[in-house]
Amino acid sequence: MFLAREKGTHRDHLVTYNSCDCEFFLFSTILGSGKPCIHMEAYRLASEKEDFLRISARSDDFKQILTEVFAYGKSLKLRKLISSRYD
Ligand SMILES: [Zn+2]
Repeated sequence: MFLAREKGTHRDHLVTYNSCDCEFFLFSTILGSGKPCIHMEAYRLASEKEDFLRISARSDDFKQILTEVFAYGKSLKLRKLISSRYD
């Protein structure tokens, strides 16, 4: 699972090669256009260039990250894990 940080609204998104939790992808899927959203395109590009940060998280931390993303649109736990890598 990958998280993409959206600059404009500062939301975190749960992204895979073929799916995203954003509104654009939801409507794209329902309406059948099948167009990938900007997060999926960014994920695909980052994967091709191997331009991403890999973080391992314990399962309880991972569950907290998912819960925060769905409840608040972003995860403070994820930010703490990212910043702790640079201490
Ligand atoms: Zn998206």
